[in-house]
Amino acid sequence: MARYTGPVCRICRREGEKLYLKGEKCLTKCTLDRKPTKPGQHGAARTRKASGYALQLREKQKVRKTYGVLERQFKRHFDEAARRPGKTSDNLIYRLEMRMDNIVYRLGFGDSRAQARQLVAHGHFQLNGHKLDIPSAVVKAGDEITVRPRSRETEYFKARALLLSQKSAPAWLRVDPNALSGRVLAAPTPQDLELPFNEQLVVEFYQR
Ligand code: SF4
Repeated sequence: MARYTGPVCRICRREGEKLYLKGEKCLTKCTLDRKPTKPGQHGAARTRKASGYALQLREKQKVRKTYGVLERQFKRHFDEAARRPGKTSDNLIYRLEMRMDNIVYRLGFGDSRAQARQLVAHGHFQLNGHKLDIPSAVVKAGDEITVRPRSRETEYFKARALLLSQKSAPAWLRVDPNALSGRVLAAPTPQDLELPFNEQLVVEFYQR
């Protein structure tokens, strides 16, 4: 499974925005607050006005990196979104949100998408009663995600159960902290998500 292994905060510095890629840690100690300049030797000097293309590219990178998806896989999600009826920008976000790693993150089993992806890849979850260790698998409304019986006994998941009982899940998901399981009640709407993206720029990037 290919993934980005470089410094995570560098991604936020490149985009000039907090993308909250490290979960809870981002709320207490953020590198961007200390170093708000672009990364690299000449980062502080980069003040050029961005072209239309640059804006589209940066927005695409922002969405892609927030969900932790590599370029080729992101393009595949876009192509699938464009094939489906409805608004391509909404379809794209819907597909990214319904990835197994993202659902595990949204349910609260991991602090960040990166951590959720690792938990899925290490085989800690079942989808509708069957083991699933593919972070990019797309789940559907009505699907149930459960921590596997063996994993429930680990210290990590025992602590998670406690943490989950103190949090509330998004309206389109339901979590059962005692059973360490969650269900996708419905597909999320843009209002459910309130994402800081301009998805239309991503569509324009690929359709230029
Ligand atoms: Fe981004 Fe979090 Fe690093 Fe801040 S701490 S720069 S929000 S990844």
